[in-house]
Amino acid sequence: MVETIVCFKHVIDETELKIDRSNNRIGFEGAKTKISDDDKNAIEEAVRLKEKNGGSVTALCVGQADAKKSVKEALAMGCDRARLLIDPSFVDSDAIGTAYILSEAIKKIGKYDIIITATGTTDVYSGIVGPALSEFLGVPELTFVSKLTLTGSKVTADRLLEEGIETVESDLPALVTVAREINQPRFPTLIQIMSAGKKEILEWKAQDLGIEPKSVGKEGSLVEVKSIQVPKSARKKMIFEGPPEETAGKLADVLLKEGAVK
Ligand SMILES: Cc1cc2nc3c(=O)[nH]c(=O)nc-3n(C[C@H](O)[C@H](O)[C@H](O)COP(=O)(O)OP(=O)(O)OC[C@H]3O[C@@H](n4cnc5c(N)ncnc54)[C@H](O)[C@@H]3O)c2cc1C
Repeated sequence: MVETIVCFKHVIDETELKIDRSNNRIGFEGAKTKISDDDKNAIEEAVRLKEKNGGSVTALCVGQADAKKSVKEALAMGCDRARLLIDPSFVDSDAIGTAYILSEAIKKIGKYDIIITATGTTDVYSGIVGPALSEFLGVPELTFVSKLTLTGSKVTADRLLEEGIETVESDLPALVTVAREINQPRFPTLIQIMSAGKKEILEWKAQDLGIEPKSVGKEGSLVEVKSIQVPKSARKKMIFEGPPEETAGKLADVLLKEGAVK
């Protein structure tokens, strides 16, 4: 039996981002939200561990009220219960603050064999939360994992390197950050979506976790996001004049030179 904790982030759907061209900043107003893409791989792996070894999966999310939608999706994918870590003091936490909140929730849960996060999120992708979480909990960490096997009290993992695969082993409990190559996340069926409504979702606030509000959020953060902008891309605005057979040739030359076509 394996007790797994999986951490996922509720993010803005990057395909829905609206760019304010007047200042080249991202407008978050009215944007759709979702589970961060690679966090679905983390959830999938957690559920597969349960299906193979027995046990249960607890999903954790530090988020606001709109994250409930993603919490329900994680339950529909097969997690058994969820804890939404929600408090006004958690807003604007940096990655270390987020990891600290998660670590206090995991300490409150108490019993666990393996914690799974993705390597990074679709939006901010600092890749800090997993490593910081393992530090707060004092458990070994296996990163960029593309294959995971549990045997007794040990975990064996294939780590995806740029030019190869490294196989590592550690005692449990351990924290694993997964790469998206590890699996193909499932799409929940209608029955799974409906039965997710009966699963336990608890909301834990700062007080429930014994977290001093000043130690998290903007006040407790070491890193402050000053702005988010999209790279400026200037168009070349080239105009080819003349008869079509001539301009087509000129256009083809430019496209070849720019590497736009081969
Ligand atoms: C309004 C707003 C204000 C912000 N202000 C700041 C700021 O002042 N300073 C700053 O540094 N950042 C700020 N952020 C960014 C935000 O706090 C980061 O997204 C957060 O710290 C996690 O970092 P990351 O997304 O890079 O996670 P990563 O480190 O890339 O995440 C790795 C993995 O950790 C897990 N994980 C990450 N986040 C969560 C979560 N919330 N719940 C559960 N699991 C999670 C997931 O499995 C994820 O795949 C702000 C964000 C918003 C929306």
